[in-house]
Amino acid sequence: MVVKSEEGRELRSFRFKDEDESQEVRAVERRILLETLANQLPPGAVHFSSKLAKIERTENGEIMLELVDGTRLFTKILIGCDGIRSSVAKWMGFSEPRYVGHCAFRGLGFYPEGQPFEPKVNYIYGRGLRAGYVPVSPTKVYWFICFNRPSPGPKISDSFVLKNQAKELVRNWPSDLMKIIDLTPDDTIIRTPLVDRWLWPAISPAASDGQVVLVGDAWHPMTPNLGQGACCALEDAVVLARKLANAIKSETESVEGALRSYGTERWPRVFPLTIRANVVGSALQWENPVVCSLRNNLIIPKLVRLGPLLEHTNFECKSL
Ligand SMILES: Cc1cc2nc3c(=O)[nH]c(=O)nc-3n(C[C@H](O)[C@H](O)[C@H](O)COP(=O)(O)OP(=O)(O)OC[C@H]3O[C@@H](n4cnc5c(N)ncnc54)[C@H](O)[C@@H]3O)c2cc1C
Repeated sequence: MVVKSEEGRELRSFRFKDEDESQEVRAVERRILLETLANQLPPGAVHFSSKLAKIERTENGEIMLELVDGTRLFTKILIGCDGIRSSVAKWMGFSEPRYVGHCAFRGLGFYPEGQPFEPKVNYIYGRGLRAGYVPVSPTKVYWFICFNRPSPGPKISDSFVLKNQAKELVRNWPSDLMKIIDLTPDDTIIRTPLVDRWLWPAISPAASDGQVVLVGDAWHPMTPNLGQGACCALEDAVVLARKLANAIKSETESVEGALRSYGTERWPRVFPLTIRANVVGSALQWENPVVCSLRNNLIIPKLVRLGPLLEHTNFECKSL
C-alpha cells in the first residue's frame, strides 16, 4: 500500500505482510463477486427486475410482498437485503441513513491492452479530498475520490458531467489518477452521498421482527472508510444461514429465535465498525491546513501502524 500527498510525494509505503502476517488486501470487482455468488444458486432462483412496492403482515402470520408490477408473493421468512434505502428496514421502523458530509465518485478504468500497475492499493490525501486506486483485474483499475460537501446535492445522471466533475476535483493531482479516470467508460462512473446509521441499543429497532430480518446495508449502512460494508454483509449472510439451517432442522428451536440470535451475535461486530468507519472518514476528510500538514509530515510517515488499523479485518465468521 502506498500513501501519497496531492503533490505526488510518497508519504509512506506499507507491505501488509511486514506489518501483520495475517493481513492481505483482495480487490474484487463487484460484478464478479455477484456473478460468482449467483452461480452457486439453482437456475431461476434469482428473479431480476422485481422491485418491491409494499409489505404487509397477513392475518395468518405470513408476509405479503407486492412488487411494482402488481405481483404478490407470500413468504414465511423475509430476509431484507435491499441496501441502504431498504424498504424492509423502513417498514420495520428504522430511520433513514444519515448523510455524513462527504460524497464519493467511483469508477473502473479499463485498459484493453492490460493495466500497468503493481498489485498495490494507492491512496492520495489532500485537504477535504482524498482519492485512491487499486487494480482489480489484468485490465481493470478501481478508483475513488471522496470529497466534502455540506449536502448530498441533486442526483446527477449525466455520466459526462459526472466524469468532468471527478476530474475537476483532482486536476493537479498525480497524473496516474487522471489517466485512470480518462480510461473509465463514462457510464460506469457513479457519485454516491456517503451515509450511515448507528444502531444504538434500546433506540434502534432490532435486526429482526418475528420472521422478518435485515442483512447487510439494509441493517447497518456504514461509510466505506474501512472497506467493510460488503464484507460485513457477507459475514451476516454466513451467520444467518447457519442459524436458520439449525432452526429449520431442529424440533425445538424456532425460526424467530434463530433470527433474534443472529441479530444478537452480529450487533457487537457491526455497530463498532459503523462508528469506527465514520470516525476514520471524518479524520481523513480534514480540511484544516495545519492538521493536514501534521498528518502528511508526522502522523502518516512516523506514527501510523498498519496492524492495529486493520485489526478489525481479523474476523472469523466460521464456515457454513
Ligand atoms: C464508495 C464506496 C466504496 C465502497 N467500498 C467498499 C469496500 O472496499 N469493501 C466493502 O466491503 N464494501 C465497500 N462498500 C460498501 C458496499 O458497497 C456495501 O456495503 C454492499 O454493497 C452492501 O451489500 P448489500 O447486499 O447489503 O446491499 P446492495 O449491494 O446495495 O444490494 C441491495 C440490492 O437490493 C436491491 N433493491 C433495493 N431496493 C429494492 C426494492 N425496493 N425492491 C427490490 N430490490 C431492491 C438493489 O437493486 C440491490 O441489488 C463501498 C461503498 C461505497 C459507497
